[in-house]
Amino acid sequence: MNIHEYQAKGLLKTYGVAVPRGGVAFSPEEAETVARELGGPVWVVKSQIHAGGRGAGRFKDNPEGKGGVRVVKSIEEVGKNAAEMLGHVLVTKQTGPDGREVKRLYVEEGADIKRELYLGMLVDRATGRVTIMASTEGGMEIEEVAHNTPEKIVKVAVDPATGIQGYHTRKVAFALGLEGKQVGAAAKFLTAMYRAFTELDCAIVEINPLIVTGSGEILALDAKMAFDDNALFRHKNVAELRDVAEEDPAEVEAAKHDLNYVKLDGNIGCMVNGAGLAMGTMDIIKLYGGEPANFLDVGGGATKERVTAAFKLILSDPNVEGILVNIFGGIMRCDVIAEGVVTAARDVKLHVPLVVRLEGTNVELGKKILAESGLPILSADNLADAADKVVKAVKEAA
Ligand code: GDP
Ligand code: MN
Repeated sequence: MNIHEYQAKGLLKTYGVAVPRGGVAFSPEEAETVARELGGPVWVVKSQIHAGGRGAGRFKDNPEGKGGVRVVKSIEEVGKNAAEMLGHVLVTKQTGPDGREVKRLYVEEGADIKRELYLGMLVDRATGRVTIMASTEGGMEIEEVAHNTPEKIVKVAVDPATGIQGYHTRKVAFALGLEGKQVGAAAKFLTAMYRAFTELDCAIVEINPLIVTGSGEILALDAKMAFDDNALFRHKNVAELRDVAEEDPAEVEAAKHDLNYVKLDGNIGCMVNGAGLAMGTMDIIKLYGGEPANFLDVGGGATKERVTAAFKLILSDPNVEGILVNIFGGIMRCDVIAEGVVTAARDVKLHVPLVVRLEGTNVELGKKILAESGLPILSADNLADAADKVVKAVKEAA
């Protein structure tokens, strides 16, 4: 789960991470009120969406081509710029061409930037450790730095048994070219950030840019936090920060039905029980020259209702031109699945080819139910046959 920048800064601040003062605003009036409370002379009005690249992003309907992060010098300008952002669609490198409507703003005190640095923490699966990534190339996308100048990124892995230590923070501070009292400030910053990361079960915390101010202070000018969904149950305060308006509607709907759904770019919808089988199904669709439209694991104990919800979800994607249902009935009985598929196909008035491959408990009965349903369902005997049939059916229908 992702949260907004202002929420991330709020959380990090409670751990002692240095952030500028600021406040959230949902209207131009609120933005002015926040600005007045902060006091001037410089403010920054920042669009809050779950995507980066806001500064360099552009609003769809702003002819002057102004971005999603603006530095202003009067209360009136705060209100004027807030009005230009709220309710308008911001397109950034990370939003895709459709962009995202800005519904909240963060108004911050302006910072005197001397240097822009990069600081990230993530769980590195290769080492199984929380790893700090630091670079002097702040303010730009880290993926670009990694691609063009990988030597400018320093990685420091933290052993969970020791937690973060002085030598970790010094290594990072020196790599960032910090000196004097900044080294101590960086140690405090990193230690607080590491505590937030581990205690809140984060997946990623990214500070880009981390800045050094004119007076030598170290501050988080931007903050991104992503959390491990499986640990959210023990962080009610974090779970409450969820903003479903920022999430993919199909994925939100899937979560309601306990379906593991990830939308992809292809045209063959997949409904499978078990994550491993779902991965295998996607692979074999590709092997036969097709492209999966989604990953969808209906789980081990799928009911008729859940199968119906899964069908509707797959068909809500306008790119879907064919569906492959691939079920292994272990605990699940194939006849129950077949009934679910038939009911769902009738309910949603299926309009694309449907290939069903069943295997396991009561498979013969399951196949009989499909055959006698009168629906144009193509039955397949094995994975390869199923992939072959659905890819061909989609090509023929096109
Ligand atoms: P992002 O583009 O979505 O990553 O948003 P950021 O929060 O990183 O802001 C983009 C850029 O705006 C930063 O890299 C800074 O250069 C600039 N910026 C943000 N806050 C301030 C500020 O307080 N003062 C000044 N002068 N620039 C700022
Ligand atoms: Mn940023």
